[in-house]
Amino acid sequence: MLLSHLRVIRRGFSTASSVNGFTGAIGNTPLIKLEKLSKETGSVILGKAEFQNPGGSVKDRAALYVIKDAEEKRLLKPGGTVVEGTAGNTGIGLAHVCRSRGYKCVIYMPNTQSQEKIDLLRMLGADVRPVPAVAFQNPENYNHQAKRFAESQPNAVWTDQFDNIANTRAHYETTGPEIWEQTGGSLDAFICATGTGGTLAGTARYLREQATKENKVVESWLADPPGSVLHSYISSGGKLLERAGGSITEGIGQGRVTQNLSTEISHLSGSMTIPDSQSIEMVYRLLDEEGLYLGASSALNVVAAYQLAKEMGPGKTVVTILCDGAYRYQTRLFSRKWLASKGLEVPPHLRKYIVLE
Ligand code: PMP
Repeated sequence: MLLSHLRVIRRGFSTASSVNGFTGAIGNTPLIKLEKLSKETGSVILGKAEFQNPGGSVKDRAALYVIKDAEEKRLLKPGGTVVEGTAGNTGIGLAHVCRSRGYKCVIYMPNTQSQEKIDLLRMLGADVRPVPAVAFQNPENYNHQAKRFAESQPNAVWTDQFDNIANTRAHYETTGPEIWEQTGGSLDAFICATGTGGTLAGTARYLREQATKENKVVESWLADPPGSVLHSYISSGGKLLERAGGSITEGIGQGRVTQNLSTEISHLSGSMTIPDSQSIEMVYRLLDEEGLYLGASSALNVVAAYQLAKEMGPGKTVVTILCDGAYRYQTRLFSRKWLASKGLEVPPHLRKYIVLE
């Protein structure tokens, strides 16, 4: 009696908790309450733990959707090649999905990105092609090179993450619904930085539509690193400036309104720019106070969520994205020399974490 009962539980357990392969493990990430920062603001600040995706970043979701889209449109057939221009995380997600489905993977990447991401991509079997980091308007930009290469090959597809709205759909169908369910529909704002804009647009649209259905309001905000033009575009009512300067953050910041972002940008409540000095301090604070080892875009998102919570006043719930882990950037973010080369300082009580020369 007892034995058969146990067997039933076991069988139930294995079917209910297993997933199909790499792609089945994408999504359903926890929402982490950032305790110290929540206490400081008198609000609840929640970070969606996207670093827990099987490929290690928020971009696993988009990688799966752009590949599924190409398969459904019969642009990608068995044994084919996926080509993409990426700062790294989309490429890492694509390389994993390609391995799991038997595709080849070619990645064009600006040569300003961390060595950790390049090494990982190569270890995942991707053909990585670092190219000079030039503006989108330049035909030698990594995206245009990726497109041209895909067009020159048989059975190859350029997944076009910036302007392919299958990327936004990933977040509209997964990230948004997960956040709504995890908060019980009880959140006041969502804020994050954008690279392609897929995470912000898809998540914000789902939350906005769901809130409207229930007579609620969920604000959505964009957070920009220095050098990105989106904050000034939004706050000036649509003036697109030239991209000037840069940031220590990787994978975020934009010089144009991508197709992915264009679907939602007019619905945003506002935007802000977060200086690198604040993002780097938050990398260390998250480690020191929350035990979270996260990259600079996650830290920027958390600074932005903290500022928004302060602006909105106490008692609110603000959600943001914890995009990936610091492992992808550690020889930069935790190096004394690298920080000095960027003119960045970490407050004295956090300097004990700077362990690399
Ligand atoms: N953070 C990191 C580390 C990223 O690599 C990216 C994507 N390039 C983002 C944030 C932004 O995501 P999205 O492309 O959906 O705007």
